[in-house]
Amino acid sequence: MILILGGTGEARALAAALDGRCVTSLAGAVSNPRLPVGEVRIGGFGGVEGLAEYLSGVDAVVDATHPFAQQISANAAAACERTGTPLLRLERPGFTPRPGWIWVDDLSAAAAHTHGQRAFLTTGRQGLEAFAPIHDAWFLIRCVDPPGDPLPRHHELILDRGPYSVESERALMERHNITMLVTKDSGGAMTQAKLDAAGERTVVVVRRPPRPGVETVTSVEAAVHRLGYRRGV
Ligand code: NAP
Repeated sequence: MILILGGTGEARALAAALDGRCVTSLAGAVSNPRLPVGEVRIGGFGGVEGLAEYLSGVDAVVDATHPFAQQISANAAAACERTGTPLLRLERPGFTPRPGWIWVDDLSAAAAHTHGQRAFLTTGRQGLEAFAPIHDAWFLIRCVDPPGDPLPRHHELILDRGPYSVESERALMERHNITMLVTKDSGGAMTQAKLDAAGERTVVVVRRPPRPGVETVTSVEAAVHRLGYRRGV
C-alpha cells in the first residue's frame, strides 16, 4: 500500500494517477478539504512515533505535502528511516524568479517590508501574527479558512479558494489600491495568476524552508514512474 501525505494539488493528481490505489493522509487543517480519489484518512499521526506505527503495512510513502509544511516532512523522513520504508518527496518547482522581486527568509522579514504599503497577503492563515505589529500599513488578507489572532490592526479579510484568473486578480488588486504583493514561493499554476497580475507592484517572496535530504521528484509522472520501479523491486 502506498501512503501519500497530501493536502496539495500534486497529492490529488498522484492519487488519481494511481487510480486511487493508495491512501492519502490529510492533516484536517481546513474545514472543507478537496478530497482525492481512493482511501483518505484525516488527522495527525501523533508525531514520528505515531507515523512509524502507522507505516507497518505501508510499502512506500510519498511526501506530497506543501513546500512550507516542514514538520510533517521531517516526521516522515524520521519515521521512514526508522522503519526502513521507502520515501519519495513530490514537490512542485518554485516560481520562476522575476527581476525586482524581494526574497526573504520568513514572514517576519516579509512584514518588515510592508511599512506604508497597501499589501495583499496571500501567505495562508498561519503565521499572520508576524504582520500584527505593523500599524502603518493596510492589509488585504486572503485565506481559505479564518486565521487566528492577532491580525494587523488595519486589514480586510477575504475567505476564498483558488484557482484565480489573472483578470480577477488584477481587478482585486486595483479595487483595493494594492501596492505590494506578499507570497510564499509555493510554486504551481494555481497560484501563478497573482504574480502575472501584480504588474509594477512590489512583490515580496518568502523562500522555501530547508528540508530533509530525501529523493525528490517534481512531477506526478516522475513519481508514478519511480513508484512503479519500486513496486517491481
Ligand atoms: P506541518 O506544520 O508540517 O505539520 C504539523 C502537524 O500536522 C504534523 O506534525 C502532523 O501531525 C500534522 N500533519 C501535517 N500534514 C499532515 C498530513 N498530510 N497527514 C496527517 N497529518 C499531517 O503542516 P502545516 O504547514 O500545518 O500543513 C498542514 C497540511 O496543509 C499539510 O498536509 C500541507 O500539505 C497542507 N498545506 C500547507 C500549506 C502551508 O503553507 N504550510 C499550504 C497548503 C497546504 P502529527 O505530528 O500528529 O502527525
